[in-house]
Amino acid sequence: MASYDYDFFVIGAGSGGVRASRVAAGLGARVGIAEDSRIGGTCVIRGCIPKKLLVYAAAFAEEFDDSQGFGWDLGAKAFSWPKLIAAKDREIDRLNGIYIRLLKGSGVDIVEARAEFEDAHTLRVGDRRVSAKYILVATGGRPSLPEIPGIEHAITSNEALDLPMLPRRVAIVGGGYIAAEFAGIFHGLGAATTIIYRGPQILRGFDDDVRAHLGAALIKKGVDLRLNAEVAAIRRESSGALRVELADGGSFACDRIMYATGRAPNTAALGLDRVGIATDAAGRVEVDRFGQTNLPHVYAVGDVISGPALTPVAIREGQAVATTLFAGRPSAFDLEAIPTAVFSLPPVAAVGLSEQEARRRFAALDIYKTSFRPLKYTLSGRDEPTFMKLVVDAASDRVLGAHMVGPDAAEIIQGLAIPIKMGVTKAAFDATVGLHPTAAEEFVTLREKWRPPAEAAE
Ligand code: FAD
Ligand code: NDP
Repeated sequence: MASYDYDFFVIGAGSGGVRASRVAAGLGARVGIAEDSRIGGTCVIRGCIPKKLLVYAAAFAEEFDDSQGFGWDLGAKAFSWPKLIAAKDREIDRLNGIYIRLLKGSGVDIVEARAEFEDAHTLRVGDRRVSAKYILVATGGRPSLPEIPGIEHAITSNEALDLPMLPRRVAIVGGGYIAAEFAGIFHGLGAATTIIYRGPQILRGFDDDVRAHLGAALIKKGVDLRLNAEVAAIRRESSGALRVELADGGSFACDRIMYATGRAPNTAALGLDRVGIATDAAGRVEVDRFGQTNLPHVYAVGDVISGPALTPVAIREGQAVATTLFAGRPSAFDLEAIPTAVFSLPPVAAVGLSEQEARRRFAALDIYKTSFRPLKYTLSGRDEPTFMKLVVDAASDRVLGAHMVGPDAAEIIQGLAIPIKMGVTKAAFDATVGLHPTAAEEFVTLREKWRPPAEAAE
């Protein structure tokens, strides 16, 4: 029988890889993990956590404004970007240390080097060669930028989190999660912010009402939201500023341009071809619902496979693979009703189906929606309504989706994700007593079915 250095070797110590390796080690496997950057991966080092710390920083600006309506006079306010970045870096270093300790404490061997396949069971990891019975590819992804003239002047979210100073004018290309979140950060902290998005409304894939609501809120705040717009070229001017040339012939100047145009899987230099692991057209590793590739002893999880690119998803998948392999319990990935949030200002959160997706799958829907001024904004005077929506299957009364734009959206939707995952009916929402005074109570007091304007006028 072949003997291997490890029972399980994981490539990539991000959300999915760390969870898989710790669970496997806890189940008695001899586990190694390779990481060629910093332990913790995208989420901890250059994603969810640093991003959200910066979102908190930006949100203070509105809090300070709002406080005046409640009698506060804060006098002159000053913000220091270098202080924020230094504080953020200290927290990331602390988390990185915790991740390293967690891995070591679980008995996982850490190899801080790049790994690639040499043959089906052998990896070259830095200057070492290791063999493993099972291998997990958990290498995540990286920003993907279109090739246009001057793209070398662009930064991505990686650099945006570490800029030496806050730019005065920022352009953000893209209309997804990262574009919306960094627009909130830069605009909130005082930079003149422009979003350039190629489609008719940002956040494609989210409910259309949510998209329209967020788009309108950003414009009202003063974000320059340019829809149906494309960048043709970027030029450095003699003044040092960047000139952004648009496909329609227009142009404008900015100090930084950030591309948030999606992410590509880290599969290029892994030696997957050498061992015959199948990838799709976008380079993602192809897996079945257990994360198994076409090589039965090689698995893959997280952003390197298709599916929602979210940390809790990568973690669940990592856990499932370790359970399948070392607990003797085959555990398939469950991608139904995954809650998600865009930490824009205001934030967006959703669980389940958008109205548009539900219409494709169900014959008849009941739609409930409301837009209202949160209590806090009555005294502050902020003109930024909160939006909530429920999508219900008319035949079964089952709630298919819940959507929100407004303060605490992510916190509220996480709570609703549990009953929605369990198959809750709208009648159960109606039978639930509200918690007053909150915004969340609106979700249990939505009584009137929405009717299209023409129908409502009848
Ligand atoms: P990763 O966390 O990317 O880890 C992969 C690791 O593999 C990396 O550390 C990489 O260095 C390493 N690696 C790659 N190739 C090799 C190799 N050959 N050898 C050794 N090591 C290798 N998700 C949320 O749920 N909520 C959020 O708020 C959120 N915010 C985000 C904000 C930003 C700016 C970004 C970019 C992403 C955000 N995400 C968020 C997504 C989330 O970060 C990812 O879904 C998650 O990190 C994926 O985990 P993973 O384990 O698949 O990959
Ligand atoms: P997204 O896929 O969310 O958005 C990419 C955006 O860029 C889309 O608006 C897309 O347009 C646009 N785009 C793609 N290619 C081009 C191009 N060539 N030219 C112009 N525009 C282009 O990617 P992000 O980079 O924002 O984020 C990556 C992923 O990371 C997210 O999908 C999400 O899964 C995860 N993430 C999660 C967060 C969270 O949970 N809060 C936060 C940040 C990231 P179109 O819609 O027309 O295709």
